[in-house]
Amino acid sequence: MTRSHSKPFNVNVLGAGVSGLSTALALLEKGHYAVKVVSTHLPSDLNIDYTSPWAGAHWRSYADIADLVQQDLDTVTFKRFAYLAENEPNAGIMYITGHDYWEVKPKNFEDPWFKRLLKNYRYIPKEELPAGIEFGITYTTVAMNAPKYLMYLQEQFLTRGGILERATVPSLKALAQIPTRDNLKPDILVNCSGLGSRNLVGVHDMQMFPTRGQIVVVKVPDEIWPKAKQFTMERYAEGSAMGTGTITYVIPRDNGEIVLGGTMQHWNYQEAACEETTQAIMKRVLATRPDLFSKAIILRSCVGLRPNRRGGVRVSTSVEQLDWNEGWANQVALVAHNYGHAGFGYQASIGCANKVVADIESHLDELVEARSHARSMAKL
Ligand SMILES: Cc1cc2nc3c(=O)[nH]c(=O)nc-3n(C[C@H](O)[C@H](O)[C@H](O)COP(=O)(O)OP(=O)(O)OC[C@H]3O[C@@H](n4cnc5c(N)ncnc54)[C@H](O)[C@@H]3O)c2cc1C
Repeated sequence: MTRSHSKPFNVNVLGAGVSGLSTALALLEKGHYAVKVVSTHLPSDLNIDYTSPWAGAHWRSYADIADLVQQDLDTVTFKRFAYLAENEPNAGIMYITGHDYWEVKPKNFEDPWFKRLLKNYRYIPKEELPAGIEFGITYTTVAMNAPKYLMYLQEQFLTRGGILERATVPSLKALAQIPTRDNLKPDILVNCSGLGSRNLVGVHDMQMFPTRGQIVVVKVPDEIWPKAKQFTMERYAEGSAMGTGTITYVIPRDNGEIVLGGTMQHWNYQEAACEETTQAIMKRVLATRPDLFSKAIILRSCVGLRPNRRGGVRVSTSVEQLDWNEGWANQVALVAHNYGHAGFGYQASIGCANKVVADIESHLDELVEARSHARSMAKL
């Protein structure tokens, strides 16, 4: 921010998922933004149109070895999560031992890029591999209790002076009409509406589509929990890749529940959990680690829709003229987008939020200039 911007900028953020709350918090931490979050759903709600509470979630980066940008976003996020795991029990994040199991060792296996970042990376010795697994790696990572982490973000946001408003907005223009925290018109709009970006007027992003994930939440007997809470895994069947129907994973939460997955079903909006899928997930997990899950009790089966996007995440910022009919000057705003995170919204959340804030900062002078130009045009 340059010295000429002495008053705080007023921001309306759309969406209270992990993307919206992380971005809102990152803005407040800068100290020169007054921030309001407007959202249909808020932390503690459970709804098929609100993805964030359904996630496992663990940090396991799928960034390509050459994708340095994504690696950077994931790295920043991992470091923040590691800090929270060590210092903030209320955040619901814990260190955990990750296991990736392959039924058939991939040809020309290359170590993932995160080998450099995570501690204790190693190949799993043959004698430690579960039955039916040919190859595996292990490393120390973090897992979060997603609903608890959302509550933590919300609390941090409110403590720093942010305001939450429950409302459904039909369009970006409607978001611009909502009075800001300080009862003004917003200078900046940030769209973190996830899958909602498909229907939001002014965005209508037709690249967005759901990837349905069914999960089973279980508990294990008390004597197994100390071991189970240290264990997260993904199991890859021969020829499987992300996005081809079924995946097998285990992610414990710090409240004693364990999330078992799952499915990756593109364009499937079905809200009800399918009993056959529940049984298939249990069977696959049991086959991999009977020592941990043979006495597991099913608490519930649930469904979340990952906000997937052809072409990948949209993180962008630009100065926009929102409406030519309602007076020029006040309708020029900075519009930022942060959505389309598919199955990786947590693990890149801090990196993406920081990127949005940096992009906004670099556009502030342009916003002020565009507004002043619009005001002089309005006088003509
Ligand atoms: C089963 C499952 C497992 C997953 N596991 C992992 C994992 O291990 N690691 C990981 O990183 N990620 C994981 N994910 C992905 C992760 O959950 C998502 O990427 C992330 O939650 C997306 O967050 P978001 O804030 O962008 O969207 P959402 O959480 O969907 O939030 C969107 C917000 O926008 C609001 N909104 C939308 N439209 C409007 C409107 N018109 N007006 C007002 N409000 C509106 C909604 O109410 C909501 O608050 C998983 C997802 C699923 C389903």
